[in-house]
Amino acid sequence: MIKVKERTSCKYNEPKVELHLHLDGAIRLQTIIDVARQRKIQLEAKNVDQLAKFVTCEKPSSLTEVLAKFSQYMYVIAGDREAIKTIAHDLVEDKAKEGVIYFEARYSPHLLANSMVDPIPWNQEQGDLTPSDVVHLVNEGFKKGEQDFGVKVRSILCCMRHMPVQTMTLNKRCNHLLSTNDPVLKTIWIDTAKLPMQKCGSFPTTKKLLTSPASASTHKKMHAHILKDFTKVRNAIELLKAERIGHGYRTLEDQELYKELLKKKIHFETCPISSRLTGACKPDFTKHPVIRLKEDKANFSLNTDDPLIFQSTLYTDYEVAEKYMNFTEEDFMKVNLNAARSCFLPPEEKEELIRKLCLSYGVEGRFST
Ligand SMILES: [Zn+2]
Repeated sequence: MIKVKERTSCKYNEPKVELHLHLDGAIRLQTIIDVARQRKIQLEAKNVDQLAKFVTCEKPSSLTEVLAKFSQYMYVIAGDREAIKTIAHDLVEDKAKEGVIYFEARYSPHLLANSMVDPIPWNQEQGDLTPSDVVHLVNEGFKKGEQDFGVKVRSILCCMRHMPVQTMTLNKRCNHLLSTNDPVLKTIWIDTAKLPMQKCGSFPTTKKLLTSPASASTHKKMHAHILKDFTKVRNAIELLKAERIGHGYRTLEDQELYKELLKKKIHFETCPISSRLTGACKPDFTKHPVIRLKEDKANFSLNTDDPLIFQSTLYTDYEVAEKYMNFTEEDFMKVNLNAARSCFLPPEEKEELIRKLCLSYGVEGRFST
């Protein structure tokens, strides 16, 4: 298994676009140590190496085990204004080092708040940091990062389908942000990841909210990590008009659905290393569904998902693709152009991003949609 924290031997070093990345899964180990010290929070780990043992995952396990890692450090960051700004700013710097020129970072504001949220996450005490404050702070960190490192970044606000109240407030928040020209995208992501599927059931209130005319212009995407119930993917595409699917590897098992997704050019946000370590795919990268997506010329991209937990970078995911899935330079160009075409930027900005990539790749006019 490849394990490289910074630059790897992957030869592809052109500008990149990343669409599937969790802000709270991409925090630096050192930042967690520093914030704990500043807030006088006692950590069992005294340094980065010790902390890594608690929060990272090296061997293939399960999504439940990976999600449990968040509870090892989120209580340090949540509820702290400076820490939230810092993790957003750091992330832009980290992505700049990986040659990323545009990325969309996702997070649930509720999971970083300690006020106006029920239940208050991570056993925090009641404070005064609301989900709206969190959005504001993350934006500040991102904006400063954009200025400092020249990387463009936008947010995807996550709602969890078992929490209709959060969905409603996020929808309102998105509408408000759009009307004030805030750079946060008007985006809703339907998350099934934070709750075991068997407990989800169906969530009519959430569904009603997300299919209402008020949310019609909100971008939507679905997290279909290890989803086995294909009707949910169908519903996401048909009812919620989801434009992208996070992971979605198992849809390949339903040929009819898969063909439909190909026809509609639905974007698959694939995350090779994550898929192996969360048990979403078999550990053998040479049999990974991404290979089939590549052969079928599907609309997909390569992403890191939770680089903190997997101790990875975009370079490591690219190296996996190069080494085990026979990705060529042209394949890497294609996945980045796919990502640019499927991003949630407004049309003019999207065109500009595509132009920028084509220019640096020297492929103007090639790889048209
Ligand atoms: Zn994810």
